[in-house]
Amino acid sequence: MTWPLIDLRTTPHGGRSLFAFQPIAQGTKIFACEVPFAHVIYKDYRREVCAQCFAYAASTSRSIGDSRTWSIRSCRATAETVWFCTDECKVTWESGAIGPLIADVNALLGKAKIATRRNSARDGYDPILPNGPTAQITQDYIDKAWTDVEDLASSRTRLSAYCLTMNLEDMELEISRSVASAIVQRYVFDHRLASPVVSSIISALDPWTEALDLQSSELSNVSVRPYILAAHLRVYAFLCHSLPKHLRLYVPTARHILARDTGNAFGIWDGDSRDEMLGWGLWAGASYFNHSCCPNVKKTRVGRAMHFTTSRSVEIDEELCISYIDTDQTITQRRRDLEDSWFFKCRCQRCQSEELGEASPH
Ligand SMILES: [Zn+2]
Ligand SMILES: [Zn+2]
Repeated sequence: MTWPLIDLRTTPHGGRSLFAFQPIAQGTKIFACEVPFAHVIYKDYRREVCAQCFAYAASTSRSIGDSRTWSIRSCRATAETVWFCTDECKVTWESGAIGPLIADVNALLGKAKIATRRNSARDGYDPILPNGPTAQITQDYIDKAWTDVEDLASSRTRLSAYCLTMNLEDMELEISRSVASAIVQRYVFDHRLASPVVSSIISALDPWTEALDLQSSELSNVSVRPYILAAHLRVYAFLCHSLPKHLRLYVPTARHILARDTGNAFGIWDGDSRDEMLGWGLWAGASYFNHSCCPNVKKTRVGRAMHFTTSRSVEIDEELCISYIDTDQTITQRRRDLEDSWFFKCRCQRCQSEELGEASPH
C-alpha cells in the first residue's frame, strides 16, 4: 500500500516528519498502519480484550449479562488461552501465524516469571547494574550497563543463576511481552511464515527497519527515570533466559526496541472516552507524525490498525501533525506533559502565539 498524499522529509531541526504532497481536504484518510509491530494487553484485561481486534468487553453491548469478559476462546492448542469478541475474530486470529505464536511465547514468559523468585534484595542492590555512584547518567554509563548484561547473558549458567533470583516486576513482564511480540513478528517475517503487512511510507523498508529507524529516547529517558535502565536490563536478561533458542537470536535488538518505545508507543484505549488504557502498541510509520498542540491529523484505532485522517484541510507542503497529549490543557500543562514523556519543549504555532499572549501586557 502506498500513500500518495504524504511525503517523508528531513526537517530543519534534523528530525523527520510527514508533509502534505498536495492540498488535502478535511476528513481524508492519509495513512494507515495495519498492525502494531509490538503490543501488549495488560494482564488484568486479557480476558476482557479481544485478542484479534482489541475490542473491550465492558464497553460494548456484546458482553453477556454482568460478565465483563469475552466467552469465545481459541481452539488452537496455544499454551495461553485467548479470548475473542466474535467467531470472525477468532477465525482470523487462528488462521494467522503471528497471534498463536505470540500466545505461546506469552505463556512461556508467564511461567518463567513464576520461576523467578521474589527473594532478591529490594534494598536496591542488583548485580545487573554498574556499581558506584549513579548520579551522573551519561551515554557511557548506559553503554557499560548494557555491555555488562550482554556479558552476563553470554553464559547460560550465570544467566540462569541471575534470573532465578531476579525480582521481575509485573510491569517488566508486560514490557517483556511487548518486546517478545516484536521478536515473534520478526521471526515470522524472516521465515516467510506470513507475508509482511506493508504499510510503509517508504515501501522499500520492512516494518522492522522502520521500527529501528524511530528516534531513540534512551539517554533522555534514563536521565529522567534512572529505574528504567534497571527495568530494561532485567527485561533483556529475562528474555535471553526464557525465550526458545530460535527467538533468542533476536533478543539483542531488544535494546533498540526498548530505547524507542517510550516516545513512540500509543496507548490501546477502550474507546474515544479513554477511560481505561488496556495496553500499548507501537505502530511503525505512525511515529513519523510529529506533535502539535493544534494538530491537523487525527489518529483513530480501528481494530489492530491505526488510521490517520486530516482533521481540517491542509495546504501543500504543510507539516502533518497529530497530538500526543490532551490539547485542552493550558500551555504550562501541555509543555510539562511533553517534556516529561517526549523530552522536548513544544514550539508549535499555538504554543508560540500563547507564549506571546502570556508575555504581553494587557
Ligand atoms: Zn474482535
Ligand atoms: Zn504546542
